[in-house]
Amino acid sequence: MISAASTHSKALQRRAERFFPGGVNSPVRAFRAVGGEPPFVERAEGAYLYDADGNRYIDYFGSWGPMILGHAFPPVVQAIEHAARNSPSFGASTAAEADLAERIAISYPMMEKMRFVSSGTEATMSAIRLARAATGRKLIVKFEGCYHGHSDGLLVKAGSGVATFGIPGSAGVPEEIAGLTIALPFNDLEAVEAAFAAHPGAIAAVIVEPVVGNAGCIPPYTGPHDLPEKFAGRMPTRVREAWEEMHGPADFLAGLRTLTRKHGALLIFDEVMTGFRLGPGGKSAGYDPDLVTLGKIIGGGLPVGAFGGKLRFMDLLAPLGPVYQAGTLSGNPLAMAAGLATIGYLQDHEREVYAKIAELAQTVALGVSQEAQKAGVVLCLNQAGSMWTWFFTRGPVRNYSDAAKSDTAAFGRFHRAMLERGIWLPPSQFEAAFLSYAHTEADVQATIASAREAFQIVAAG
Ligand SMILES: *Cc1c(COP(=O)(O)O)cnc(C)c1O
Repeated sequence: MISAASTHSKALQRRAERFFPGGVNSPVRAFRAVGGEPPFVERAEGAYLYDADGNRYIDYFGSWGPMILGHAFPPVVQAIEHAARNSPSFGASTAAEADLAERIAISYPMMEKMRFVSSGTEATMSAIRLARAATGRKLIVKFEGCYHGHSDGLLVKAGSGVATFGIPGSAGVPEEIAGLTIALPFNDLEAVEAAFAAHPGAIAAVIVEPVVGNAGCIPPYTGPHDLPEKFAGRMPTRVREAWEEMHGPADFLAGLRTLTRKHGALLIFDEVMTGFRLGPGGKSAGYDPDLVTLGKIIGGGLPVGAFGGKLRFMDLLAPLGPVYQAGTLSGNPLAMAAGLATIGYLQDHEREVYAKIAELAQTVALGVSQEAQKAGVVLCLNQAGSMWTWFFTRGPVRNYSDAAKSDTAAFGRFHRAMLERGIWLPPSQFEAAFLSYAHTEADVQATIASAREAFQIVAAG
């Protein structure tokens, strides 16, 4: 049993609080939403994190998504070491940038051209600027509970830490800027249709997390026939559109594609979390988004983002066109090396990796849910491949309002009880859990056994 007040972590937290607001450099790390003190991590290997007091944890947040191959994955570490010996940065072009782009384009053929940046925030911010320039329009549609980084216009009704701390938007965002963002319920095509009707010719783009991860995991509605899933990547757009005309929108994402096309707006899939998580092509295959944003996994644990899409939009960027976007460390050699080692491995071992992590994720997600049921704790499990959330509510959870009904106090008790048993879950009800290729059957069985005890504590209140 790990004491919540491990002495070294506690001392390190006090020291960090002298330098950083809340002691952290990203808000959700502070554990405010679940209570208790965050352990300070010293190192990690495979599926395990080791803290400053020598405790070991099974990691279910994977650095918030990137560590799909597990920590300190040898090919990634070797690639970084090799690149570092050649100097960490030049500020000039390298072959490694095109090497990684070439790999990404195999999985994302709609990214005819792309740009590397240093974070997901930069990727979405730049994609929005491009969409506004391409359309000459100002308004952006996003969905409640989706998080697209912390640029001003995208913090409206955002997910992740914004949802965790119950902040409606953010102080410091001028209302003139927030007013350009329309936030709608996820999975609600009628609301999107109404927004286009209310603002004719004014909406530049619809941006969406195709599977929401930042309000907890919320998959898109795929309709009774599950059609685009089954035909993902194989059904030409015009065939699907003809099918939809006869049957109505087959699913939420296909509906977004149809509506944006009809109204001359761009469709942006923010796959910073889902890209290479749900499979090599994320969720974009079969939906033909105009722009895609990536991050997290494509950097293999180093700071990277990317945005890309159709030529006619991407060639609007400087130096070819009038849209300015730049970055001192964009395409950084260390990040490209880590990304290339990660994406290369994922593509070359696609079947084994994705089948294994989805199956193990299913085992742990269902196993823990069954323990909740036995203990009389109400849970709703949402899962998409190797990402999932146990919402402490009856469900179904189809949008942020549903997720917000969760008993966050009960989630906090669960989180603390699991942490004390060496299981590190994401420290918020509104974040997805992840499983990596390094996790084993023994890890997930240990997790289920810990959950059995943890739910006794939750049920006791
Ligand atoms: C994490 C995330 C971002 C922001 O990426 P950062 O690298 O943290 O700036 C944007 N969109 C989605 C969907 C994310 O999950």
